[in-house]
Amino acid sequence: MRRSTLVSAIVLALASASMSAVAAVPAAKHAVEQTTTQLPRNVRPIHYDVTVTPHADKLSFDGKVAIKVDVLESTGSITLNAMGMSFAEVTLTPAGGKAQTAKVAVDEDKQTATFSFDKPLAKGSYTLAMSYAGKIGTQANGLFAIDYDTKAGKKRALYTQFENSDARRFIPSWDEPNYKATFNLTAIVPADEMAVSNMPVAKKSDAGNGLAKVEFQPSPKMSTYLLFFGVGEFERATAMAGKTEVGVVTQKGMLSQANFALDSAKTILAEYNDYFGTPYPLPKLDNIASPGRSQFFGAMENWGAIYTFEYVLLLDPTISTQADKQNVFSVQAHEMAHQWFGDLVTMRWWDDLWLNEGFASWMEARTTEKLHPEWNTKLEQVNVREGAMGRDAIATTHPIIQHVETVEQASQAFDAITYSKGQAVIGMLEGYVGADAWRDGVRLYMKQHAYSNTVSDDLWRAVEQASKKPIADIAHDFTLQPGIPLITVDSASCAGGKTTLKLSQGEFTRDRPDKKPLSWRVPVIAQTLGGAPTRTLVTGGKATLEVPGCGAVVVNAGQSGYYRTLYGTEQFAALKDNFAKLPPIDQLGTLGDTWALGMAGKRPSSDFLDLVQATPADADPQIWGDVANDLSGLDGYYQGDAARQAALRKFAIAKLAPVFARVGWEPKEGEADPVKIQRMELIGTLGNLGDPAVLKEAQRRFDAQDKDPKAMPAALRRTILGVVARNADAATWDRLHAMAKAEKTPLVKDQLYTLLSISRDKALGQKTLDLALTDEPGATNSASMISVVSAQHPELAFDFAVAHKAEVDKKVDSSASSRYYPQLASRSLDPAMVGKVKAYAEKYVAAGSRRDADTAVATIEYRIKVKNERLPAIDAWLKAHGA
Ligand SMILES: [Zn+2]
Repeated sequence: MRRSTLVSAIVLALASASMSAVAAVPAAKHAVEQTTTQLPRNVRPIHYDVTVTPHADKLSFDGKVAIKVDVLESTGSITLNAMGMSFAEVTLTPAGGKAQTAKVAVDEDKQTATFSFDKPLAKGSYTLAMSYAGKIGTQANGLFAIDYDTKAGKKRALYTQFENSDARRFIPSWDEPNYKATFNLTAIVPADEMAVSNMPVAKKSDAGNGLAKVEFQPSPKMSTYLLFFGVGEFERATAMAGKTEVGVVTQKGMLSQANFALDSAKTILAEYNDYFGTPYPLPKLDNIASPGRSQFFGAMENWGAIYTFEYVLLLDPTISTQADKQNVFSVQAHEMAHQWFGDLVTMRWWDDLWLNEGFASWMEARTTEKLHPEWNTKLEQVNVREGAMGRDAIATTHPIIQHVETVEQASQAFDAITYSKGQAVIGMLEGYVGADAWRDGVRLYMKQHAYSNTVSDDLWRAVEQASKKPIADIAHDFTLQPGIPLITVDSASCAGGKTTLKLSQGEFTRDRPDKKPLSWRVPVIAQTLGGAPTRTLVTGGKATLEVPGCGAVVVNAGQSGYYRTLYGTEQFAALKDNFAKLPPIDQLGTLGDTWALGMAGKRPSSDFLDLVQATPADADPQIWGDVANDLSGLDGYYQGDAARQAALRKFAIAKLAPVFARVGWEPKEGEADPVKIQRMELIGTLGNLGDPAVLKEAQRRFDAQDKDPKAMPAALRRTILGVVARNADAATWDRLHAMAKAEKTPLVKDQLYTLLSISRDKALGQKTLDLALTDEPGATNSASMISVVSAQHPELAFDFAVAHKAEVDKKVDSSASSRYYPQLASRSLDPAMVGKVKAYAEKYVAAGSRRDADTAVATIEYRIKVKNERLPAIDAWLKAHGA
C-alpha cells in the first residue's frame, strides 16, 4: 500500500518539513507469538469459491461462499472473521459425507462469526458453505462505491479495499495474512459494465435482466487482503511485457491519461523480473484507476489488480505536473514491488508489516532512480530519512518490528517508521553488504518463501547466506529497538595527510535530553572533501577512524546511514566554509542534521541560517527546495507574531528571489526536469512568504486565464491557483468555489476543493469546514478538506471536527479514523490543544490505540518549545545579519 500523501501532493510547497510528525506506537517488545485477537488455529482454509451480486443502487450485496477447510484438531465450532454481515443458511459437509447445519453467532466487536455444530468435528477436510448479505460502503473499506461526475452525468463505480483487515466485510474468511488460500470469484454484474479482479475473466455469460455472470480464473494461493473486485463503466488498455499482459483500467474517456502509467508498468515489470529472479507469476497485471481519495492510502497492491486513485495514476493535460508524473511512476514502482514483496512472499503477521512496506518503499526509490536518472531522485532518500527521523526522535516512537494485537493497531502500523525508516535501514544494509550481494539475498528469499509467509529473520538469513556477511546483529539493532543513533565527532586531527576521527555514539531525541542512549552497531562512512570514503562499524559506543586527506570532513558521506551527525564547532565551521563544494547529497544531509540538531537544542538553531547563507544560487534545485521548505517551516513558528515574522520573511525572500529569478515563470527550452519542480516550489514558497512580486504575478495570471490561454499553463496551474487561494479574499474564494462546482473531471474537481481549503483567512477556513459537511464536494473529499484547513487553522479544524464527529466519521475511512482527529491538531502552537487532544483520546480511542493522539500531543509540545526556546537565536542572527 502506498500511504496517502494528499496534502503534500496537492498543495506542493505549501506544507512545511515540520508537518511530517504524527503517529507512532508506544515502545513495545517484539514478540511473534500469536495473540488473543487472532483466530483459533484449529481450522485452516484451503480454497474459497465465492459468488457476489452487488446491488449498487441499494449499497448492499448478496454473497455465497463455499470454503474448503482442513479441521486440524477436533472441535465443536469454527470461528472466522466477518463484519457487517448477516447469514442465511450455513452448512458443513465432510469430504464424501452428509451436510449438517450450523448455528451462527456473530460478534461485531471481535469481527468474527462462530459456527457451532451438534457433534464435535473430527479432523479432516470439509466444505463450509453459506449465503450471506453485506453492505457497500462510501469510504474505502471492504466493498465500496465511488460516485463521480462526468460530462455525461453522475456515475457510480464499485471497488474493494481490504488491507489491513477488511476482506471480512466482503467474504466470511480467515482474514489474517498467514491464512493463504486460493480463490474462485464469480460476480453477477450489469452486462454493460466491466468487472475486474486479480485474475483474467474465464467466462462471461448472460444472467438475465440485463445482468452478466462473470467468472474469473482461479487465483494463486494468497492472503485475503490481496483480493480485489471492481465493476463500473470502465475501459481497459493493455500491452505485453514478456509473457505478462499489463493493463490499465480507467473510467470511460480517461484511458489516454493512463498512457504514461502503462508504459511505465512495462519497463518496471521487466526490471523486477530480473531483480527478483522469480518471474511475475500471474498471467496479467492491471492497474485500476479510481476517482476519489482516502485518508489512509493512495494505492493498493492487490495481486494482479493494483488499485490506484486517479490523482496518482492519471496525467490530466490541464493540470498535471512534472511532480505528478514522477509520482505516478514511483507509486507504480512501489505497488509493483509488492507483487513480490507482500503478495508472493507475505509477512506472517502485522508485526512485520515493514517487510512489505519498508522494502517496497526502498525498491520504489531504487527503481525510480535507476530507470529515470534524469529526475535525480537519489537526493530524495535524504528527505525520506528526515521524515522517518521526525517521527523516530520523540518518546512515542516504536521499533520497526512491533507487536500488533488489534485491527486498529495494525492500521496504525502504516506509518513513517514502517515505511520510511524501513526504507532507510534497508538502504543502509544494502550499502553495507553491497548491491549485488543484497540482490542475491533477495532472490534467494523469494525462492525459499514463494507463496508462503515470513518473519524478518528469514530475510536476514537469506541475505547472510548469499552475501557471506553477517548483518543480523546490525539489522536487529535498527529494527528491534526504536530511536536514532547520534554520532558525535569528538575530535578530528590531521597529521601526515590523514585525518584521525574520534567518534562516539549517543542517541538523538527531540524531547528527552537526559535519556540514557541505547546502543547500536552503526555502519559509518566518512571522507574529507574530495578524499576517498572510509568505512567503519561503530561498536560499543566508540570508534577511531583514519580518513585520507585533511580539511573539512563529512561523516555519513553519501548519506546512506540512519543516524545523525553532531560536529564540533570547528568541524562545523570548516563544513560551512566549504559547503558549496560538498556533493549535493551531503549538502542535503548536512542541512537536515543541522536543522534537526538546532531545533532540538543540540547546536545553535541559527547554524541552519549559516548554511542557507553558504548555499550558492546555482546549487542543485533540490537543495533549494529543501531550504525553501525549511524556511517555510520556520515561518510557521512565527505565526501570530507579525514583526518578528517580517524579519524572517525579509531574509527568506532575499535568499529565494534571486534563485527564482534564474528559473523564471516560463520554462526554458530543454531545461532539466528537477528545474520544473523547483519552479513550482519557489513560486509556492515565495507566495507563502508574501513576496509582493510573486503575489502580483500569480494574481495577474489568475485574472487573465479566461482571455489568455498561456496565463495558466498546466505545469503551473495548480501552483498559481495555490498562491491565489492561500491569499484569497471572500470574492476570490467564491470564484474558486464556482470553478470547483462547475468542474466535471473528478481529478481536477478534487484538487479545486483542496485549494479552497488552504486559505490563510480564518473566516474562509470556517466557510470551507461548513462546505465540507455538505454533500457538494463528494463523499471522499470532505475529510481531506478538513485536514487541509488544519494546516493553517489547526485549532479551528480540530474543534470543528470533534464537534461534528458523527458526521465527520462517515467521511473518513475506518482504517484512518484513530489517526485522523489527533492529526488535525498537530500543527498547533496553542498549549490548550494538548489538553483537548488528550481529552479526545480518552473519550474516543481505545487505550491500546492512542499512539497517534500521544504523538500529536508530543508534536504540539515540541512546536511550542521550538517557538519559545529556539526562535530567539534565529531573531538574534537575523538582526546581526541586517534583516
Ligand atoms: Zn506499500
